[in-house]
Amino acid sequence: MSKKLLILPGDGIGPEIVTEAVKVLATLRDDHALDITMDEALVGGAAIDATGHPLPDATLELAKECDAILLGAVGGTKWEGLDISIRPEKGLLGLRAGLNLFANLRPAILYPQLADASSLKPEIVSGLDIMIVRELTGGIYFGEPRGVRKLESGERQGFNTLVYTESEVDRISRVAFDIAMKRGGRLCSVDKANVLECTELWREVVTTAAADYPDVELEHMYVDNAAMQLVRAPKQFDVMVTTNMFGDILSDAAAMLTGSIGMLPSASLDENSKGMYEPIHGSAPDIAGQNRANPLATILSVAMMLRYTLDQPEMAGRVEKAVNQVLDAGLRTADIMSDGMTEVGTDAMGDAVVAAL
Ligand code: NAD
Repeated sequence: MSKKLLILPGDGIGPEIVTEAVKVLATLRDDHALDITMDEALVGGAAIDATGHPLPDATLELAKECDAILLGAVGGTKWEGLDISIRPEKGLLGLRAGLNLFANLRPAILYPQLADASSLKPEIVSGLDIMIVRELTGGIYFGEPRGVRKLESGERQGFNTLVYTESEVDRISRVAFDIAMKRGGRLCSVDKANVLECTELWREVVTTAAADYPDVELEHMYVDNAAMQLVRAPKQFDVMVTTNMFGDILSDAAAMLTGSIGMLPSASLDENSKGMYEPIHGSAPDIAGQNRANPLATILSVAMMLRYTLDQPEMAGRVEKAVNQVLDAGLRTADIMSDGMTEVGTDAMGDAVVAAL
């Protein structure tokens, strides 16, 4: 049966990079019999300008009906003065919460062609291939009570709550175990069980789930050590699973090991592998509209969509191979440009991937 995709270009460079990813999807549909239909809707600042809200009801409805979403990026200086409740980023949070996208998959892969881009020594990062699985709809970012209150002394106090139920930990750990089974068979669960009771429970639940995955080697690590190990010897990791906040921070650190924010895709999945796919970077207002954005993270997000929602691993591999081919051919957008390579714009990079397909 035909799969329904919803395309959300968003703001800044979003429309430019999404245009290139849609070229890839259209090529797979027209030349390789990928059975999909594509709808487009507004989100973020573009939606605020048109409707006054970052996630219009019409967009959420379409998002609920589709099988997978491809998102560019949201946000920009134009909307920074707005009340926090109606800023562009709220559109993203609304989609994650509204669709119950609890599992965030963030690969950190170092492309051999871009080894020079990392700030770490090549021998530390060459061959790097980590998958970070971050819990996305719970933990301290959503826990209640939260706020800023006035104490009797007159001083203000800010407070947030770190909460996880056993079932929330169990379902995210199983996503991570399943991925580890398909990769190197090693899972590192990151917590702060020595200080936080909530993550003591996290460790206990992950350990219990491990009994169902005898082929996966499970290790536990405190988050401070994990941060250190990521920059000391990152290749020791295969799959990492962690809480919403720890994952937010560690996945950005891991992304930077690869040196290029314009190369990394992500997926956010629900219980049935319905997913929202997006590059990890933002809307890059500084280069928007200049045909300078790197579209490869968005194109690689399409590969993740093919693998995790559309169940087309062979086609996913084909897209990844096409990206490798254009890098091998020396084509580079400005963000990954180096001596001896050929600089191309956003559209030419997309066209080259399509040609390689
Ligand atoms: P950013 O990721 O947009 O940009 C950081 C730097 O990386 C900039 O110099 C930018 O030019 C560069 N960059 C990013 N993507 C690139 C690409 N594909 N090709 C080449 N260069 C690229 O982060 P920021 O500047 O902190 O945020 C800008 C806006 O994006 C803000 O409004 C922020 O809230 C929003 N944002 C959105 C998301 C999202 O939609 N998921 C994520 C992060 C930030």
